[in-house]
Amino acid sequence: MMGIVHLLVGAALGSISGSKCEAGVAGFASHLVLDSLPHRDLDLKGEVMAALAAIVVLAPLIKLDARVLTGAAAAVAPDLENALWRFDIISKKDMRYPSHSGLTPHGPKVATMAGQVLIAVAALFLLRRRR
Ligand SMILES: [Zn+2]
Repeated sequence: MMGIVHLLVGAALGSISGSKCEAGVAGFASHLVLDSLPHRDLDLKGEVMAALAAIVVLAPLIKLDARVLTGAAAAVAPDLENALWRFDIISKKDMRYPSHSGLTPHGPKVATMAGQVLIAVAALFLLRRRR
């Protein structure tokens, strides 16, 4: 799943959480659920470009607070090990997050980005409602 989708869903969950701790747990767990859905992964350059573009465009539209930021950070954090793997800093067997290590299923690859766009729009809608 694209990092920006993890980020937006984590932010949305954080916005409806009752505490920063709850936001962190919800965001971290959401990564597992999103990774299990059918999706298309981008290469590292595509991920970085999409994330930067989305953050620049979307950040002014979102009310940022500690819960939103905690949920977003916790949701995208597991992909740090993906980045380390892509840079050959760690091997695939060193990955610990369940959907990366193979402990839980990783969603099948699909050609379209439509599902991820839909999830991102839904998360953004929830975030905008909480302003
Ligand atoms: Zn992941």
